[in-house]
Amino acid sequence: MLLSQLFAPTLRETPAEAETISHRLMLRAGMIRKLAAGVYSYLPLGLRVIEKVERIIREELNTAGAQEVLLPIVMPKELWEETGRWGKYGKELLRFKDRHDREFCFGPTHEEAITDLVRSNVKSYRDLPLNLYQIQTKFRDEVRPRFGLMRGREFIMKDCYSFDVSEEASRKIYQKMFETYKKIFARCGLVFKVVEAGTGVIGGSLSHEFQVLAGSGEDAVLSCVSCEWGMNKEMATEKGHKKCPHCGKELKEYRGIEVGQVFYLGTKYSFPMKAFFLDEKGNQKPIVMGCYGIGVGRTAAAAIEQNHDENGIIWPLPIAPFHVELLPLQDDPAVRETAQKLYQGLQKEKIEVLMDDRSESAGVKFKDADLIGIPYRIVVGTKGLKEGKIELKERKGGQVSLIPVDAVIGELKKKLDSLLAG
Ligand code: ATP
Ligand code: MG
Repeated sequence: MLLSQLFAPTLRETPAEAETISHRLMLRAGMIRKLAAGVYSYLPLGLRVIEKVERIIREELNTAGAQEVLLPIVMPKELWEETGRWGKYGKELLRFKDRHDREFCFGPTHEEAITDLVRSNVKSYRDLPLNLYQIQTKFRDEVRPRFGLMRGREFIMKDCYSFDVSEEASRKIYQKMFETYKKIFARCGLVFKVVEAGTGVIGGSLSHEFQVLAGSGEDAVLSCVSCEWGMNKEMATEKGHKKCPHCGKELKEYRGIEVGQVFYLGTKYSFPMKAFFLDEKGNQKPIVMGCYGIGVGRTAAAAIEQNHDENGIIWPLPIAPFHVELLPLQDDPAVRETAQKLYQGLQKEKIEVLMDDRSESAGVKFKDADLIGIPYRIVVGTKGLKEGKIELKERKGGQVSLIPVDAVIGELKKKLDSLLAG
């Protein structure tokens, strides 16, 4: 991609409404734009990041045996009355009427819709287990939408729902999803803690949150200094935990951004919605369920909260909008020709390259490259070219190496291959 053609309107000034770093940098780097409170458009750079997070999620969920579906965004009131949530969900549930005065809502989560799909198509234990997921736009009429993609009203969520014949089987899937989530967030390049959590409006009896550690996080989590145990602070306070209940060691407090949550639901939805199956002996039983959510946009924003400096974003390679930015510095025939050759060579190697082909000063190009935060930068300049060399620089840490022009693609490919190996 050529930067001169990329729709990435960068901003020099810090937008006044943006309180958090990720919100500011996503606006400044031309990745997102606000349409209404908590409602955002994704521009090409932003969308590329979202799609990379989604790709990692898909790969790991498919490997774990889950299957992708796509449910409607709009759901009728009657379905939500079956579980009592039409009454309980409160103002976060955006409701509306169609032309016949029938009531509907925009989905904030999809337990009712997926349970309806499964109950009308699963009859026997032979049809189970099932683990179904979707990646879809959700709407929650949050009281205080803020922080850009971190707390939107309209946002992209991956939601997954498991259906099993027994509590034992369902808990096994819960454990598998738990491990899968760890892989997903590790592949996104995030530092996170997994903590026990309350179940809120989703319900159920067992739940864990995946919390990306960052000072701007809205959640407080307590984590054992010695073992892996952790708990949402709210829940730990309720339960009166002052020390680790597993090993008795101290608890340390962190700020966290909840990027995902898993719930063991049991029969909370299947029972009232009559999602039954016949077991081997012909007895009718409610299906045992779990549900598992990831905020896709919030994950991208959390990555920025954890990876930035005073000049801009420092994308973790697996979710970066491009792998490398190519910067021809001067408008000089040798520079232009070398850059063009490298541009084609990189594309041939399937390395995602953005070339800053604008006729801007080196200073402006460097500033924008820092802001957008692509992990590698190849700088082609007249001075280096005289010795047949170009500069390969890492955004993170700023390490620079001078490399012969012919060797740079091979060198970069080696780095990418080892870092991107899932
Ligand atoms: P929160 O406590 O932050 O309001 P939640 O616990 O209500 O979130 P879940 O029902 O667990 O959210 O939804 C699954 C995931 O969807 C969350 O872990 C989070 O990553 C994401 N998510 C939830 N609400 C929002 C939102 N308003 N904007 C962006 N992402 C969200
Ligand atoms: Mg949650």
